[in-house]
Amino acid sequence: MQKIAIIGAGPAGIYTSLLLADFKGEVYLFDQNKDVGEKLKTTGGGRMNVTNKKFSAEEFSSQSNNLLKKLFKNPHVNNRHLIFEKLGIKYQWEKNRALLASQNAPLEVARLKAKALEQNNLSLRLEHKATGIEVLENGSFRIKFETPNNTQLLDFDTVILSGGGMFRMKDLGDTEKIYALPLQLGHSLTEVQPSLSPLIFTDKALRELKGVSFEGTLTDTQNKKSVTDDMIITHFGLSGPAVLDFSAFRESESIELCFTAHLKENQLRDQINTQRQGVHRLRALLREHFTKTLTDFFLQQADLSIETIVADLPKAKLNRLIQTVFHYPIPKVQSKNYPSSWTTKGGVRLDEINTATLESKRVPGVYFAGEIMDTNGLCGGYNISFAAISAAIIADSLLKS
Ligand SMILES: Cc1cc2nc3c(=O)[nH]c(=O)nc-3n(C[C@H](O)[C@H](O)[C@H](O)COP(=O)(O)OP(=O)(O)OC[C@H]3O[C@@H](n4cnc5c(N)ncnc54)[C@H](O)[C@@H]3O)c2cc1C
Repeated sequence: MQKIAIIGAGPAGIYTSLLLADFKGEVYLFDQNKDVGEKLKTTGGGRMNVTNKKFSAEEFSSQSNNLLKKLFKNPHVNNRHLIFEKLGIKYQWEKNRALLASQNAPLEVARLKAKALEQNNLSLRLEHKATGIEVLENGSFRIKFETPNNTQLLDFDTVILSGGGMFRMKDLGDTEKIYALPLQLGHSLTEVQPSLSPLIFTDKALRELKGVSFEGTLTDTQNKKSVTDDMIITHFGLSGPAVLDFSAFRESESIELCFTAHLKENQLRDQINTQRQGVHRLRALLREHFTKTLTDFFLQQADLSIETIVADLPKAKLNRLIQTVFHYPIPKVQSKNYPSSWTTKGGVRLDEINTATLESKRVPGVYFAGEIMDTNGLCGGYNISFAAISAAIIADSLLKS
């Protein structure tokens, strides 16, 4: 009887095992933790965003964008609602986002686990950490597991690697341990980095605004990618939805911040210029658009007093003010570390994986599911959807064969 090992019981691993309910052999789902879905329990702050109405390769990053686009041609991408239906995942729409109906991620993980335990062909093995893999002469696999009591060597015909990324890793040097199995199989990795992360920077003046939140735009000065959404200034840098999404695309260390999503540069210039007659205070004009704290910050940065009259505003200082509001430069930006990040950018290279089946091009019989691959979705249900889509692609392929 054919035996499949799934290494990693996050969403990618659990969904794959459940979609293999009709597999005529044995399915073994392993996780190093005491329970399944440790990361899944924390998703969406417990509310779990399952998917998004706006869904394409554009909302994902990968070093192999063309291969990602190819993968996204799979019918499961547009039919992902059918995968959720099969898995019994219930959700409700909130604008573009599909939120888990129960809004209780730990409860959802318990439901998935109960479903897995009921499945006849499935054995769940917790506290089994896979530390080694060897390809045997007949093409099957011998996997070494460390458990609290012993070391086990178990043989399988097919292996699905769904171990996720660098979740909670404090030590960046642990990459080789986290990706040990794909590396032992001869796969290579793209550069891995924390993603969907808050940003840290050294600009003291900006950090003094901690607690100030607004809808604005962040732009990478190198690749010119920008994200507009809510953000908040913190004691270490910036956080909030715009910042997490931006971190997925950021390449440069220097970025630009625009403090408003509702006002255009020309509009503010025009408004200022139309008030050049009479005695209009610049601060009052700015206060129509910005909070007191932000207004005073802009004036300070442009070296203007809070008493400044629009008629007396020199052109050079107007330019400086406009520059501060719309193109505030932040140098030396870094993403916060893995424990503060939602996902890992980078992973097993897509050009080593058949994008139609997610089977390894290097070692037949090995498949990849979820975040372990070089694919990284934005906030808002993209990563859980990708876990489900990859699970469905693999299950299709194995059920057909
Ligand atoms: C705070 C937070 C909120 C998030 N919110 C959302 C959201 O709302 N919507 C969304 O789409 N995404 C969200 N994400 C991202 C999402 O959780 C991940 O992208 C998703 O969990 C990835 O699934 P995965 O199964 O590929 O990996 P993981 O969930 O990381 O699962 C991998 C599993 O493999 C196990 N494992 C690893 N190596 C081994 C080994 N050698 N042996 C045995 N077991 C191993 C791990 O213990 C782990 O359980 C959020 C993430 C965080 C941190």
